[in-house]
Amino acid sequence: MTREECLALDAADPLAAFRAEFTLPEGVVYLDGNSLGALPRRTSARVTQLIDEEWGQGLIRSWNTAGWYDLPRGLGDRLAPLVGASPGEVVVCDSTSVNLFKTLAAALRLRPGRKVVVADPDSFPTDLYVTEGVGGLFDGVRRRLAGPDDLSGVLDDEVAVVLLSHVDYRTGRLYDMAAVTEQVHRHGALMIWDVCHSVGALPLRFGDCDVDFAVGCTYKYLNGGPGSPAFVYAAERHHAADQPLTGWFGHTDPFAFDVGYVAAPGAGRFLVGTPPMLSLAGLQASLDLWSTVDLAALRAKSLALTGLFIELTEGLDLVTPRQPGRRGSQVSFRHPSGYQVVQALIERGVIGDFRTPDIMRFGFAPLYVGFCDVWDAAQQLADVLASGSWQQDRFSQRSAVT
Ligand SMILES: *Cc1c(COP(=O)(O)O)cnc(C)c1O
Repeated sequence: MTREECLALDAADPLAAFRAEFTLPEGVVYLDGNSLGALPRRTSARVTQLIDEEWGQGLIRSWNTAGWYDLPRGLGDRLAPLVGASPGEVVVCDSTSVNLFKTLAAALRLRPGRKVVVADPDSFPTDLYVTEGVGGLFDGVRRRLAGPDDLSGVLDDEVAVVLLSHVDYRTGRLYDMAAVTEQVHRHGALMIWDVCHSVGALPLRFGDCDVDFAVGCTYKYLNGGPGSPAFVYAAERHHAADQPLTGWFGHTDPFAFDVGYVAAPGAGRFLVGTPPMLSLAGLQASLDLWSTVDLAALRAKSLALTGLFIELTEGLDLVTPRQPGRRGSQVSFRHPSGYQVVQALIERGVIGDFRTPDIMRFGFAPLYVGFCDVWDAAQQLADVLASGSWQQDRFSQRSAVT
C-alpha cells in the first residue's frame, strides 16, 4: 500500500463527507475517539441555543416548551437504532458506572435465589469496582471472576448475572454477543453488556441477541462531549425490574410529589435525578448527525482502517485480533515503553493513548479518520520507534490522565 493508494481510498470512501461535520485541529491525526470523540461542528450552535434562548429567555418554562423534560427518553429513542433496541427500551442518564450499579442491582433482584455475580478480571476497572460495591449490599452475594472464554467453568445455577464488555478496552477484542448471551441464558442467569467500546464503532443488535441489560458511554465513539450522559438499555421483558436508586425522575409522576415511590413504566424507571441539560444538548446534536450514518458502511470502513493500520505496522507486538470479525475499532500494541512512545507521537500530532501496564492504543473513528491518516500515523510511529526519539526525558513525565 502506498500513500497514493490511500488517497484513492479516501476519494472513494462513502463516509468521507462526515469529516467536514467535525472540528479537528490542523495537523492532528486523532486516534483517540474511542476515549473522547471529536467535536461535531453543529454542537456549539445547539449548546449556545440552549444557553441563550432556552435557559436565558425561556427560563424554567423550557422544561415544557423546549422539550427538556422528555430529553432523557427522547435521546434514548434516538439511540435505539444504533443498538438494535425498540423505542422505550433505552434512556440516557448518569454515568456508565452509575448505570452499571442500577442494572446489576436490578438483575440481582430478578434472580433472588441466586448469589453469584460473574465479572471479567480484565474488564474496565469501574465494572469490577461496581460489582464489588453492589455485591456488598446484598446478603451473601459473591463474585466469580472469569472472562468470556472461561465462562463454562463458572456458570451454574447459583449465578444471577454476568457482566462483560463487548469489546475489550485494552486489546480491542470483540466478543460474540449472541453466543455469549445464549450461553449465559442456558444457565438461567441474566446478561449485562458494557458496550462503551462498541456503540458507534459497529452496529449492535440487543433485541436479536436477547440481551437483558446494557450500559454504554456517549462521549467516546458517539461524540456527545466530555462527560456526556451514558445510557441504559433494559429489554422490554424487564420493564418491571426494580433498581434501587429510586429518585424522583424515575417516579411514574414526579410532579405529583407523592410520599411513596412508584416506578415509571419502561426503561424510564432507570432515571434518577434532574438531567444535565447542557450535556444532553451536546449529545442531542451529535445524535442528529448519527441518525444519518449507515452502520454497515461504518463497520466496513472501520475494518478497512484497522486492517490497514495492522498491515502498515507489521513487526510490532500486536495484541488486537487480526481476524476482522474479532476486533472492534481500535488497534493496540504492547511495548515496554508504551507511555513514552505515545507521548512522543502526540508531540508529532498523532494522538493515541496508553493503558497500563504496557498498551499503546489507537482508536479509529470512521466518521472522521481517513486512510491517509492511517498511513501518516503508521509512518510517524515507525519513525518514533526507529529514531528512539521517545527516550527523551520529557516523555516520561506522567500526567494524571494517560
Ligand atoms: C470508558 C468506559 C467506562 C467509563 O465509565 P464512566 O462511568 O462513564 O466513567 C466504563 N466501562 C468501559 C468498558 C469503558 O470503556
